Amino acid sequence: MNAAVGVTAIPSADRLLKTDAAIRLEKMVGRTRLRDVLRTVLDHIREQALQHGLQAGDITPETVFRQVETLLHEQNESRLKAVFNLTGTVLHTNLGRTVLPEEAVQAVVQAMRQPVNLEYDLATGNRGDRDDLVQNLLCELTGAEAVTVVNNNAAAVLLMLNTLAMDREVIVSRGELVEIGGSFRIPDVMQRAGARLIEVGTTNRTHAGDYEQAVNEQSALLLKVHCSNYVIKGFTESVSMAGVAEIAHARGLPAAMDMGSGTLVDLTRWGLPREDTVSDILQAGADVATFSADKLLGGPQAGLIAGSRELLQEITRNPLKRALRVDKMRLAALEAVLQIYRSPELLPQRLTTYRLLTRHPDEMRQQAERLLPAVQQAAGADYRVASVAMRSQIGSGALPVDELPSHGLVIRYARSGRPGRALLALEDALRSLPRPVIGRIMQDALWLDFRCLDACDEPDFQAQLRPLRP
Ligand SMILES: *Cc1c(COP(=O)(O)O)cnc(C)c1O
Repeated sequence: MNAAVGVTAIPSADRLLKTDAAIRLEKMVGRTRLRDVLRTVLDHIREQALQHGLQAGDITPETVFRQVETLLHEQNESRLKAVFNLTGTVLHTNLGRTVLPEEAVQAVVQAMRQPVNLEYDLATGNRGDRDDLVQNLLCELTGAEAVTVVNNNAAAVLLMLNTLAMDREVIVSRGELVEIGGSFRIPDVMQRAGARLIEVGTTNRTHAGDYEQAVNEQSALLLKVHCSNYVIKGFTESVSMAGVAEIAHARGLPAAMDMGSGTLVDLTRWGLPREDTVSDILQAGADVATFSADKLLGGPQAGLIAGSRELLQEITRNPLKRALRVDKMRLAALEAVLQIYRSPELLPQRLTTYRLLTRHPDEMRQQAERLLPAVQQAAGADYRVASVAMRSQIGSGALPVDELPSHGLVIRYARSGRPGRALLALEDALRSLPRPVIGRIMQDALWLDFRCLDACDEPDFQAQLRPLRP
């Protein structure tokens, strides 16, 4: 039997650093990091020794270095992990919204590896403008005279308001004072932009006369905002973009719209719900439109401001533009994605977001049936797994009420008693897999929607399933 030993029996860091095991590890991670990790491990062992007493055999150099290697391994694991998005929300902000097509991935890799003509005009050898890389394509796709790219749509709205309305008034309908999840509120952004918000109309009804009466010599802009994440139904009235633009222009003011998602093509051709395109809004008379690149557009995170040459010139001269600009990697991805839009018929094949949005429910049903036995086996006899028709959402505020017919697995607790804790435990276990599986608990069941499980990922999904609650 081993005798209990005191803290003094723990080998010193200096002595341990001279062993062969240390020399081997030092080659891999360098002396500084090895010493830091070794100290962390020894501190932990010392604490354990004080709390529980230790056996002499527990603290050989081998056991210490085994812990060192485990800790090094844990530290090396990336915190940003690939997951399976089975939430049923295609553009899930917390899961990174869009998945980019291979063309964009390749473009980003090239921009990372090599110097690129980010702000360099290859024809003249003079300094160029990074917006020029996507300007022509975006003008072609939206009908805008000019376009600029910033960090995200929140930045686009901030920059637009700060440029066009600092210390002046912006007129917005009360029905459009939106809050987007994650603390984007139009009134707050307005304030930070230095503009004064003038609310007109009521929550459910705003008339042309409400806008007209609010205009005065302090007015800078009439703004419309897309009702992302909600709808106002029943006894309602709002003024169209064309109506608001007409009122603004008659008084020598510009009109703008924060479109939120901002799609570039008519979605109805794929049986998806109708949403105004950027070109519709500009044609209706908006002088400026702002929208995200990583919502329905299917690109990387960015915010786009499209509109008249004159206003875009003012906007890009604002010193804030420099603080909000995007880097070469995102411009590379954005250009690659926009290229795909030149062949709109091919979007469902070539642009990941459209492929996911346009999948036929039969495809997901077949996946559900193929995967049901493996999921049932992993969940165990305490749960009952069923293949069920369900509805997915587009997400990110685009078309909040419209749901897409989908299919997946629904897991219920098979024992008597309340299912809450059992479902949470199963959800936890799925989240702890090497590539975490993210589902959704709803109506006393765990729902796995297969819309975003690409066929090529299915083998990986199945291969990592193991008994989840042994
Ligand atoms: C999503 C959204 C935003 C914010 O866009 P980000 O690209 O996430 O910054 C702003 N306004 C509206 C109407 C939106 O839907």
